[in-house]
Amino acid sequence: MGIAKKNFIITVDGPSGAGKSTISKKIAARLKLIYIDTGAMYRAVAWAAREQGVELADTSALEQLLQNIKIRFQAAGEKNLVFCNHQEITTAIRTPQMDKLASAVSAIPIVRKALLPLQREVAKGCSAIIDGRDAGTVIFPQADLKIYLDADISARARRRLKDQSESRAIDLKSVTQAIADRDAADSSRSHAPLRMADDAILIDSTELTIDEVCEKIMELVRTRFEICSDEADNE
Ligand code: C5P
Repeated sequence: MGIAKKNFIITVDGPSGAGKSTISKKIAARLKLIYIDTGAMYRAVAWAAREQGVELADTSALEQLLQNIKIRFQAAGEKNLVFCNHQEITTAIRTPQMDKLASAVSAIPIVRKALLPLQREVAKGCSAIIDGRDAGTVIFPQADLKIYLDADISARARRRLKDQSESRAIDLKSVTQAIADRDAADSSRSHAPLRMADDAILIDSTELTIDEVCEKIMELVRTRFEICSDEADNE
């Protein structure tokens, strides 16, 4: 028996490089859902702080930045364009420096407090898939389906390297270390740390292709949501 309601929320949490955004975008396209990349919002704050020369320790400057920040997403085919204060930052926020800065920014309670209503607002009145670290535990604790997507660190590092190696000279060892550092910081912070919600379903993608992970999620969708059974069956 599925859930007979019009709008539904799917959350996808997990560590860096598990494939959350790739998978979420594909599911969003298949089910015509809004896709919300909460990590991009932390990256946007990190980018704005760097642009404006705001030190993360300077609480009042950071508060000011958060009061004025405008983050917007725009779907463009397969891409999800990210804008911050009217500037397109889609590629600028995907550097190793921004990985680090976003992780540091995300541990600051006033940043999390400011982004939470924005994250909920984007999903208001529509069905959505949200990827992040606390999507199922904090942002949408009442989500209809919660996925926790994990994979061995070596598999995650190899995927990251493949994504990044076209544009940068980096090696597997440093990518693995950067992911391990980010995992440790994201899991140990006091505010909204990365953890699996009690009612989440664990999918380990180490040995699975992107399509196989999508199929597992679509299977869960088919059994849970009556409302989208047509779309889910018409693949
Ligand atoms: O998912 P992505 O790697 O783009 O996220 C960037 C950073 O933002 C993560 O390392 C994590 O520290 C933070 N983040 C978070 N909570 C979320 C999404 C991302 O703390 N819901």
